[in-house]
Amino acid sequence: MTDQRPTVALHTYGCQMNEYDSELVGSILIGQGYTIVGNGDPAEIILLNTCAVRETANTRVYAQLGQFIAGKKTRPGTIVGVLGCIPQNLKDELLAKFPGVDFICGPDNYRDLPQLIAEARETAIPLTTVDLSEYETYDDIAPRRVPGVNAWIAIMRGCDNFCSFCVVPFTRGRERSREADGVVEETKRLAADGFKQVTLLGQNVNSYRAGETGFAELIDRVANVDGIERVRFTSPHPKDFPEHLLKVIAANPRICSQIHFPLQAASDSVLRRMNRGYTMAQFNDLVNLMRDTIPNLVLTTDIICGFPGETRDDFAETEQAVREIEFDSAFIFKYSRRENTLAARKFIDDVVEEEKSRRVTKLVQLQREISAKRNRESIGQSYRVLIEGRAKKSADQFRARTDGNKIVLFPKNDSLGVGDFCNVRITEVTPNTLLGYIS
Ligand code: SF4
Repeated sequence: MTDQRPTVALHTYGCQMNEYDSELVGSILIGQGYTIVGNGDPAEIILLNTCAVRETANTRVYAQLGQFIAGKKTRPGTIVGVLGCIPQNLKDELLAKFPGVDFICGPDNYRDLPQLIAEARETAIPLTTVDLSEYETYDDIAPRRVPGVNAWIAIMRGCDNFCSFCVVPFTRGRERSREADGVVEETKRLAADGFKQVTLLGQNVNSYRAGETGFAELIDRVANVDGIERVRFTSPHPKDFPEHLLKVIAANPRICSQIHFPLQAASDSVLRRMNRGYTMAQFNDLVNLMRDTIPNLVLTTDIICGFPGETRDDFAETEQAVREIEFDSAFIFKYSRRENTLAARKFIDDVVEEEKSRRVTKLVQLQREISAKRNRESIGQSYRVLIEGRAKKSADQFRARTDGNKIVLFPKNDSLGVGDFCNVRITEVTPNTLLGYIS
């Protein structure tokens, strides 16, 4: 008997929060009788879960959307829907540019998807559902998980921080936290399904609050769920990082000794215009406290180059901070103007593209040297690693991660498999990878 259920291809762009949302969308649609197919397979419904955080992501989505709409000529009746942050922020632009889009749906409206798809089949007029909610957390929906060792858990949605470069408060609305019991129950289900690691997600996890439970209490509860061996989180905000959380991380061996701590820029005047709410001195104090409290902490960051008004001297301060702090790795981006943000309304995007690129290249090169140096300190050391699968470039090697989230490659051993732990002694390193053998 052939499967007659309507088929959906779900393409996801952007951050882990979007990955998680696609798992929610998959669960909602499967619950209504749809089948999710692989992205290369023919599908009656094509959904793009989009990201608006940077111009490059926007451009990629628009290019693929154009192809899917062109494909409707050869497959009439195909429904193309656009979900997530782009429709929420650029509804009018999107519909004007792509009249072939059948519907758009914002991040707080995924429960409406079955209805939207049904209606889109009956009408040629594009449908729009982009209402932000103060309450929606999808707490009662069990996401459709991608099998593996790690599962993402969104503990909150939205953001109230309004960093001036960031579109998230406009695309994902006001901050709201899930009930702690719901998060713990989800963790227990994941442990029962064989996941060894969970990563708690929020735009600013420091702001998590559900009744009496703050983030430090929540992560401790999650880490005490039987069967879960590692807990990670992303991201905290430097403006309100709770000291108590450091003690909880240090005291619970299942909470990984890794913090992603977004610096963004080191010049106080740039930080002020970014509306980040901290100074470089405060950031440095926190980094020192973190390293004093958590032995062997792996520290990573995000940096934006070429924010409006960033002078060469401002940039030199960021270079200096990167040199001094020695992050283990960093995501380094060019500033890109996002419609509706405070920076787009208040400041002129006055650092020319070539100069932004020059700053990014310089900082990436510097960070590569620092990452290599930090990794060289691992040579000769043995780490407990969690095996995630085979190495991309060699079927004879496993790919695993340390507690600090560093990638480790080592020769396969027949008695081990995905989801197993073992100890690996490091013999060689690159800026991004540790290499070794089972010890
Ligand atoms: S904390 Fe700032 S950068 Fe992060 S999502 Fe909120 S507004 Fe954006």
